[in-house]
Amino acid sequence: MASTSTAAAAQSIRSEKMFIDGAWVGAASGRELPVEAPGTRETIASIPRGGAEDIARAVKAAAQAFPAWRRVAPRDRGRMLQKIADAMEEKVEDLARILAEETGNAIRTQARGEARSAVDIMRYFGGLASELKGETIPLGEHVLSYTRREPIGVVGAIIPWNAPVALAALKIAPALCAGNTLVLKAAEDAPLGVLAMTRICEQFLPKGVLNVVTGLGEEAGAALSAHPTVRKLSFTGSTEVGKIIMRAAAERIVPVSLELGGKSPSIVYPDANEDWAVDGIIAAMRFTRQSQSCTAGSRLFLHADIFDSFLQKLADKTAKFKIGDPLDETSDIGAIINEKQFKKVCGYVEEGLNLPGSKLLVGGLPPKSGPLSKGYFAVPTIFANAANDWRLAREEIFGPVLVAIRWTDEADAIRMANDTHYGLAAYVWTKDIGRALRASHAIEAGWVQVNQGLGQFPGQSYGGVKQSGIGREHSLEGMLDSFTQRKNVTVNLAV
Ligand code: ADP
Repeated sequence: MASTSTAAAAQSIRSEKMFIDGAWVGAASGRELPVEAPGTRETIASIPRGGAEDIARAVKAAAQAFPAWRRVAPRDRGRMLQKIADAMEEKVEDLARILAEETGNAIRTQARGEARSAVDIMRYFGGLASELKGETIPLGEHVLSYTRREPIGVVGAIIPWNAPVALAALKIAPALCAGNTLVLKAAEDAPLGVLAMTRICEQFLPKGVLNVVTGLGEEAGAALSAHPTVRKLSFTGSTEVGKIIMRAAAERIVPVSLELGGKSPSIVYPDANEDWAVDGIIAAMRFTRQSQSCTAGSRLFLHADIFDSFLQKLADKTAKFKIGDPLDETSDIGAIINEKQFKKVCGYVEEGLNLPGSKLLVGGLPPKSGPLSKGYFAVPTIFANAANDWRLAREEIFGPVLVAIRWTDEADAIRMANDTHYGLAAYVWTKDIGRALRASHAIEAGWVQVNQGLGQFPGQSYGGVKQSGIGREHSLEGMLDSFTQRKNVTVNLAV
């Protein structure tokens, strides 16, 4: 009986391929990796375990496709991206289901929105093709000096698992629009949505322009970042790996964009002790994404006058979320991506429970029995009376653990907010707009939101300061800065 059910299970596992030079292929080594569904811990697919040989093939294909692709009129490249956007829009529901299953993100609160935002990103950059323009420099009547925006060449992009389809779109759309060709490495934990999206892109792009490789970071990722033909590296992921990528870039002096981690502060003033701010803090903390977001507002600085009453409201609302099957429309919160992350999150919760002076307000360790114990389901957890020097307040947990820290003096709150090696996002909560803007200007972060905790929209210049990253990629300026290089041509007209 056991062997029959194992065979049945094996049959239901999809065997996926990667996309190199216009063809769907396995790894040269023939090796594969399993993809697990975090909600059930079942293996749902296998993917090629790409290595250096596969990366070399993909980079070669991208290099061969580059000369023709850069000569396609930018508006025509943009039109292709818009066709991809239209085709993706028709498949939003399919993409959302794949995403929910492979990432564990709840379909209603996260996966569907992510698939829609990927469409939006493709459409946005598709419309920007005509903006790849240069300048003329007024050096005098007898000189024509102008600057062209040229593509860089083969771009190597590496993405994480937390919003894989949206992040793939954020690499594909600006890189291709600007006339580069691309080798994209999907994250080993969440490659399926990216591969499904690639099947859509394939219909509209010439061979070799987009190549999507699967595999492990230390194998496929490292080979891509070290490949001598890759002329630009664009990485989204942890600060730790970002440093490795930057070192690889330094070896060959190639430009690099890094979107890395965060430990973003939320500063709440006494006049914001109201429901809208409580809802905003929950949104900023990304509890309905299991807080697996680099912009999660995971350090909550609450004014002492409202500390207890605000936290009570926050705890009450947080406790009401329904955690469960990511594919169930009624689930608010899904599962943590994998066992390693799950254990890491549990480790932080355990540490918080044992810290002298800490107060668990809601949440705690995940249940050890019942339906939730079948997947990597963590529980939204809030510790009150935290200190900014706790490990829980300094390290990026990438899970639903929020620490609340008391403040009385505004300058002290801002000093604590800035006392971190990260600088990605920040949130300020007060109806006093002058005060909010003064605080926003004083906070060291690439992106500050006042009285809201939303995600990024295309067009916002998004990226981090300090160890949260280098470069901006979410906007027109991001595309120009990150995916083009300027060339100046100066002509003596007197000849
Ligand atoms: P996360 O913690 O979100 O998984 P990582 O930074 O570990 O973030 O991974 C992000 C991406 O970087 C993934 O696609 C992963 O495979 C890749 N990666 C991990 N290690 C390396 C490495 N040494 N070189 C290149 N890419 C890597």
